[in-house]
Amino acid sequence: MSKKRFTIALAGNPNSGKTTIFNNLTGSHQKVGNWPGVTVEKKEGLIQRRGYEILVVDLPGTYSLTAFSIEEVVARDFILEGKPDVVISIIDASNLERSFYLATQIRELDCKVIFALNMADLARANGITIDAEKLSRLLDVKVAFTVGNKNEGVEELLDMAIDVAESGKAAHPERRVRYNREIEDEISRIKDAIENCGKPFYNSRWLAIKLLENDRIVRDRITEAMGIEKGSEILALVDERRVHLSDIFDDDPEIIMTDERYGFIAGLVKEVVTLDRKSRTDISRNIDMVLTNRYLGFPVFLFFIWLMFQATFTLGAYPMEWIEKGFGIIAAWGGACLPDGLLKSLIIDGALAGIGSVAVFLPNILILFFCIALFEDTGYMARTAFLMDRIMHMIGLHGKSFIPMLMGFGCNVPAIMATRTLESRKDRILTIMITPFMSCSARLPVYLILAGTFFPRHAGTVIFFLYLIGILTAVVTGRLLRSTVLKGDDAPFVMELPPYRKPMLKSLLIHMWDRAKMFIKKMGTYIFFGSIIVWALSSFPMHISYSVDYDAKIHAITTKFSELSASATDREKIKQLEAEKETAISELMAAKRKEKATKTYMGKIGQTISPLFEPLGIDWRGSVALLAGVVAKEIVVSTMGVLYSGYANDDGRGNLGAALRSSGMTPLAALSMMVFVLLYLPCIATLTTIKQETSSWRWAAFNLTYTTVVAWVASWAVFNMGKMIGIG
Ligand code: GDP
Ligand code: MG
Repeated sequence: MSKKRFTIALAGNPNSGKTTIFNNLTGSHQKVGNWPGVTVEKKEGLIQRRGYEILVVDLPGTYSLTAFSIEEVVARDFILEGKPDVVISIIDASNLERSFYLATQIRELDCKVIFALNMADLARANGITIDAEKLSRLLDVKVAFTVGNKNEGVEELLDMAIDVAESGKAAHPERRVRYNREIEDEISRIKDAIENCGKPFYNSRWLAIKLLENDRIVRDRITEAMGIEKGSEILALVDERRVHLSDIFDDDPEIIMTDERYGFIAGLVKEVVTLDRKSRTDISRNIDMVLTNRYLGFPVFLFFIWLMFQATFTLGAYPMEWIEKGFGIIAAWGGACLPDGLLKSLIIDGALAGIGSVAVFLPNILILFFCIALFEDTGYMARTAFLMDRIMHMIGLHGKSFIPMLMGFGCNVPAIMATRTLESRKDRILTIMITPFMSCSARLPVYLILAGTFFPRHAGTVIFFLYLIGILTAVVTGRLLRSTVLKGDDAPFVMELPPYRKPMLKSLLIHMWDRAKMFIKKMGTYIFFGSIIVWALSSFPMHISYSVDYDAKIHAITTKFSELSASATDREKIKQLEAEKETAISELMAAKRKEKATKTYMGKIGQTISPLFEPLGIDWRGSVALLAGVVAKEIVVSTMGVLYSGYANDDGRGNLGAALRSSGMTPLAALSMMVFVLLYLPCIATLTTIKQETSSWRWAAFNLTYTTVVAWVASWAVFNMGKMIGIG
């Protein structure tokens, strides 16, 4: 006997507890977070209950069902096309107004829907009492209370869903959201016109509403489904009625309908909610009095950011040392075990050195991501959007765009993915284009080396200014794009301030880990192969014709000194001779390495491209390092490690800082190089993400070109101005 099967979809605002309830229902392990947009993909789980096989689908979190954002379209399409048997609309009972905005729209869709009043505990704590029975009567939906994180009411919810799925009864048409007379008239007019053209593919009232709202996707589908002729007839009618409505109300119909919805919701809330006076001012509001205060908010925010970076660097320094030592031990062990030769060099000087030089930054990056997760999960991140709103408007962006930018300090890849929470495509693209100027953690190693070496006393300040230059470049770029190719209309939208929540450690760790995984993946792929390529290019060709026969010279020195020390009698004298010999040999070895470096493929590439970088004060080794950094900016450091090794005074692996200094790099050149690293094209992973998220190669190509040109100009300016003022 095959089991009967049906589908339940969970819909709701971000942070309404959808994923939590999904996890309770399916038992599968999913991410639990506190930031809108985490649930972007569809998540499903198959469960058995009462003889049914039930597919539970976690829809992306949205605030509405318009066609503004990808999430909304995904959620809407699934309800319309996927035809779930029941939609559970998860409602944040502690924030009914906001949740109802979506829930009533789902109600309009004419699918079978259940309202789950989640966060019932918070509602109670805030003194909100909800008359579920009345709500159920008013909208003709079943209503259940749940507390997702305590798994309360979830079983009952599932039972209710099964009951509704079993019952054939569709919802009562009168109990839906109503609009005012004029709008209702137009809705019926269009609805009739649609029905006259044959059986509509979706609920005709919903189609009519969406058409009045000028929903692009629905417009397209009308002509698709009805044919050009009938379709354009309907669209012509719609356009005419829209003009009519605009005339009456002196505003766009979509705005009027939004107002109407809020009006309906306000009325609904009045009907079903009683507020307990005592606990009305909730804690969140008190905290917000400080954190989003006009004057205090910004300094407090800067303090948190400063604290974040402070934690990243100071706390990260300890594990960094351990990892460094760990890699040292592995390399030493490998060096002892492996037979000399190409393979050994590949493993130790190529793969291990490359990954090692990047892996040391893993702790910093984990801490950074942990802090960002903390901002998200407590609800503070949403406040930063609020605080930055005014500043972001200077670029013509919404405060919400600031969040991806802030995340960009960690890694540009998740940051760019986080732009999915933005409603309008233009806003998204604009944010995506400026986010790479946020100095990600991969650039930090370069600054640490260069600033630490050339500005040892002011390294912190130099790095701080680099971050600032990045932000300024982002602002200027934003304005530029906004006034040219991305001219545009801001998508209207409510800035939401979710309540503050105590973060759960598990959720924080999962969040952090999700992002760190990306970094580790990058290490395993791009950086691994990148290091091997860099190694290969700097190791081949193996046989180089040197201008001087170094080996013979070394041999001669060895023989000469052994003769000398054989004839010496004095112990001190022998010691001194030994030391002299050592220096002479290591000088020769360094000279040999130096010459080899210029004659390998890497050296040749470097000399070819170095004219491009000469005006920036960057020598051919720096040029190669920058070129290699295209793969991932972490590789800049490891490449420099390989290329400048000839300048180190010991065995070549030694202190890169000292090597850089003795290579003749000036502080000014270092500054110019840091500016270049800050601004030039983001890594391959970021470019790929840009392509994915904008679904256009053109934007990725634009970003690549634009950032690199900007970087060149900025570095040139820094270098030449520096020369003029006379530093460096
Ligand atoms: P989603 O964005 O809708 O998927 O929301 P999540 O499931 O990720 O939940 C957001 C946060 O709310 C998490 O920290 C949950 O632990 C918490 N949460 C979920 N349900 C409840 C609830 O009923 N009461 C309280 N107090 N917190 C909840
Ligand atoms: Mg979720």
